[in-house]
Amino acid sequence: MRITYLECTRCGEHLSADRAQNVCPKDGGVLFVRYDLASLKGKLRPEDLSGRVASMWRYAEVLPDALPVTLGEGFTPMLPSREYANVHIKDEGLNPTGSFKARGMSAAVTMARHYGLKKLAAPSAGNAGGALAAYAAAAGIEAYIFMPKDVPMANRMECDFYGAHVTLVDGLISDCGRMVAERTKKDGSSKNDEGWFDVSTLKEPFRVEGKKTMGYEVAEQLNWRLPHGIIYPTGGGVGLIGMWKAFDEMEELGWIGSERPKMITVQAAGCAPIVKAWEAGKSTSEMWDGAQTFAAGLRVPRAYGDYLILDILKKSHGFAVAATDEEILAALRHWASVEGVFAAPEGAASLVAYQKLRASGFFGADDKVVLFNTGSAYKYLDMIEVQQKKARPEPVAARHIGGIIGPY
Ligand SMILES: [Zn+2]
Repeated sequence: MRITYLECTRCGEHLSADRAQNVCPKDGGVLFVRYDLASLKGKLRPEDLSGRVASMWRYAEVLPDALPVTLGEGFTPMLPSREYANVHIKDEGLNPTGSFKARGMSAAVTMARHYGLKKLAAPSAGNAGGALAAYAAAAGIEAYIFMPKDVPMANRMECDFYGAHVTLVDGLISDCGRMVAERTKKDGSSKNDEGWFDVSTLKEPFRVEGKKTMGYEVAEQLNWRLPHGIIYPTGGGVGLIGMWKAFDEMEELGWIGSERPKMITVQAAGCAPIVKAWEAGKSTSEMWDGAQTFAAGLRVPRAYGDYLILDILKKSHGFAVAATDEEILAALRHWASVEGVFAAPEGAASLVAYQKLRASGFFGADDKVVLFNTGSAYKYLDMIEVQQKKARPEPVAARHIGGIIGPY
């Protein structure tokens, strides 16, 4: 086993990776996977990666050494912007299941199969459910997914076709999370225990491991020089947390120096708990009431790893920005028409954040900045259409006149 132990990000407690673990039993802290990087240093060099598989599993030495459950996730394009000389778009929309969630679920389901788990459960704002369903199908494992009933249609349909057990909930992802937790209690205190293993965001250690490969790719695709800034649409924040972990690992391996990008969180104005906490100088966030945005993946009223996200923003001299749905829709259209990238609404929010940070002088024209597009717009066509109608109501003349429907 390459993994030496699992470490609690709150109290530092070490746990064994020989069996499936969720969070720290003492304080509920998120568990990080630790490897023996010191003995890898000097033996594994960046140039050793050339010619390897063009997926996230090219970084095998810093991932769990179980037989991967893979659909070809990762090593997505790093596109130079056509509009801004020093901007790159990391296009995660090209992953299997059309979003960055593929990375985390590939790693989590790989380890679930390794541990012999038969039933996995997770709440999802949409794309994580689709990814879990796909990887579970590939691994021959059952998936139980709880999603808000108004998730994008693509997410409902893909979960169904992948053969997952789907429960649509009249509520938010936080309500879905509660339902999963209630039915995965291991201490016998719940009559409803279904024997599921909870693979919720940051409630098992391997989704971070998959997502961290985005950090390795940013470095490799920019020739081992990290950018000045990374803008990341933040719902649960696993990618942000994972990339930061990757940078530390790469420094330990001697692949990069101690410099870090400014890490920028962008959230939707209708659900911005991290932005609110950041502006108030707090180290944790509060549950956001009445979360609402068509960027479904950002409808996370409170991130389990909020303390990690806020710590990274602070350490990196980063920032947190909110984007309204109107701004996101305009950016989505702009990116599509200028860059040829049809981004998920969450991804388009990255462009809004960049525009704001350029206007405020936070980033200059010479700063190299990577904007994450976390998914494909093709999974949100219904949501985008509704948002578009809100933004541009039909002209009166096109509505029903005297019972006749027509463009008069
Ligand atoms: Zn702990």
